[in-house]
Amino acid sequence: MLNLNAISARQDSKPVAKAFYLMSSYFNHSCLPNLGCDFDGGAIRLTLAEDVPADSQLFISYVDNPEMSQSQIKEFLWLHYGFHCQCPLCTAIPSS
Ligand SMILES: [Zn+2]
Repeated sequence: MLNLNAISARQDSKPVAKAFYLMSSYFNHSCLPNLGCDFDGGAIRLTLAEDVPADSQLFISYVDNPEMSQSQIKEFLWLHYGFHCQCPLCTAIPSS
């Protein structure tokens, strides 16, 4: 359970540790997240990546490797989190 809710803490865009942050564990994944995660020492900072209408759901990305292809992301999410992403990007790309 902790591993599913842990987030990769990054330094200079590279994952350096897995950490559990209570608030970030509430967010679902999207391949087009509207929240960005930054790290300052041991603290996490979540910032809006775009203007978001009130009452919109906020998403983070569970993927910490920006070089993964969309098909690799889909496989990663299935293997590590057990779900098929239904974000707008994933639903626009036919399954292979
Ligand atoms: Zn997706």
